[in-house]
Amino acid sequence: MVKTDYDIAIVGGGLAGLATAIQLAKKAYSVVLFEKEEYPFQKVCGEYVSLESWAFLESLGLPLHKMSLPLIDTLQLTAPNGKELFTKLPLGGFGISRYLLDKSLADIAAKSGVTILQKTKVDDAKKQDDLFVISFPGNAIKTKVCCAAYGKRNNLDVKWKRPFLRQTSSRLNNYIGIKYHVKTDWKDNVIGLHNFENGYCGISKIEGNEYCLCYMTKAENLKACDNSIEALQENILAQNPHLKKIFSQSEVMKDFPVTISQINFGAKEKVQDGILMLGDAAGMITPLCGNGMSIALHTAKLAAALIDAFLQGKFSQSEMEEAYKKQWNKAFASRLKAGRFIQSFFGGKRLSNFFVGTFKAFPFLTKPVIKLTHGKPF
Ligand SMILES: Cc1cc2nc3c(=O)[nH]c(=O)nc-3n(C[C@H](O)[C@H](O)[C@H](O)COP(=O)(O)OP(=O)(O)OC[C@H]3O[C@@H](n4cnc5c(N)ncnc54)[C@H](O)[C@@H]3O)c2cc1C
Repeated sequence: MVKTDYDIAIVGGGLAGLATAIQLAKKAYSVVLFEKEEYPFQKVCGEYVSLESWAFLESLGLPLHKMSLPLIDTLQLTAPNGKELFTKLPLGGFGISRYLLDKSLADIAAKSGVTILQKTKVDDAKKQDDLFVISFPGNAIKTKVCCAAYGKRNNLDVKWKRPFLRQTSSRLNNYIGIKYHVKTDWKDNVIGLHNFENGYCGISKIEGNEYCLCYMTKAENLKACDNSIEALQENILAQNPHLKKIFSQSEVMKDFPVTISQINFGAKEKVQDGILMLGDAAGMITPLCGNGMSIALHTAKLAAALIDAFLQGKFSQSEMEEAYKKQWNKAFASRLKAGRFIQSFFGGKRLSNFFVGTFKAFPFLTKPVIKLTHGKPF
């Protein structure tokens, strides 16, 4: 047992973990953050960030206004049969790759004094008396507070037997995600959301001269294509004429695609044996709604303020936990529910044809639906 003690341990160095670490390190707490990969690295994500996060990211020290990032103010929604509609996004967003975003935040975290242990996968974290013991290969440390920000699904979910893993509704689990960076012909201010049988594919600009092309579908769709991504794209995605055109005229960048599996949208607990769950580890909004990153960052803001109050002795551990659950539910529960509900409309081919057709006929319906799943700047 190494006797290196920290105030706070954070498991997972994505957006939720890094943003929490930066805020607490800036308040002079000692913070250790574990990340199993090495920065910079690619991650499956549509890479469209809602503008609700702009001010918060800048407050962490990320100079977004100097980074020449594309601003996106229009949504193109298409149905599997090719029907399309355009609508202005109520708030809009910007494009940035996770490669750049996560690396930039990791640099800020390191400069702020966070100890970042990269290529270090946490095996377990548990409460022992009033402290947390975090174990990783060949070692363990003790901390006063522990946050889990390890994303969608993880070895620790299995170890802790989290109930969402028993979720049987096929509507909510067993999705795969596939991402490319491409050079293509696409408008800089438009995010395209193209539906196909049992899935959807987003395209929008990121930094440089590249575009993120990312889709999510049921694992059965891939299985039905003999587990071939090319066959999946040719046989199923390309039935939507917009996707057929995009895939045929895009130049794929080196090292792509990147893929993930076992994506699950079931409800999750917000606190696990005293550990605050952040970002996707606390609940994942369907990517169709395009703002999981903002929710992850917002959970980091809520958690950091409560941890600060706890470490100053203003709250007990249980008061901190209760306040986190309450604030989380107030801020996000209805957005996640709305996301799951909307996702169900875009499951089958006929249903998504019908809904895109309806939105096209009644365009005034689109903005309230988008607003249901989006928050305000925080
Ligand atoms: C297909 C798809 C498209 C999406 N598109 C968008 C979009 O366009 N816009 C948007 O806002 N959101 C989008 N999202 C959602 C968004 O990607 C997530 O909500 C967001 O990344 C959550 O951030 P996080 O910090 O919780 O988790 P992550 O960013 O996943 O970070 C978790 C980190 O923990 C690390 N880790 C995991 N286990 C361990 C361990 N045991 N020890 C140490 N480290 C560990 C991982 O390597 C990872 O870096 C999309 C999601 C999917 C699946």
